[in-house]
Amino acid sequence: MSSCADSEDDIALTAHGYCSWHRGYARAVRLIRVEEAGSGPNAHGCQYACFSCREAYDLVPLADLPL
Ligand SMILES: [Zn+2]
Repeated sequence: MSSCADSEDDIALTAHGYCSWHRGYARAVRLIRVEEAGSGPNAHGCQYACFSCREAYDLVPLADLPL
């Protein structure tokens, strides 16, 4: 399984956290899976994105991905 999140309960929550896209804290961030190694804000792994950045960059929260 993914090592991005420790529990699914954490993914479901929208909480105050750090948005890796605009590089600041936002009220409601969601865990985003970054699949393109080397092209994201960080090389790989999982990042959190706020609502505005999810809209702007067409990001899909990890919990919402059809798996
Ligand atoms: Zn943001």
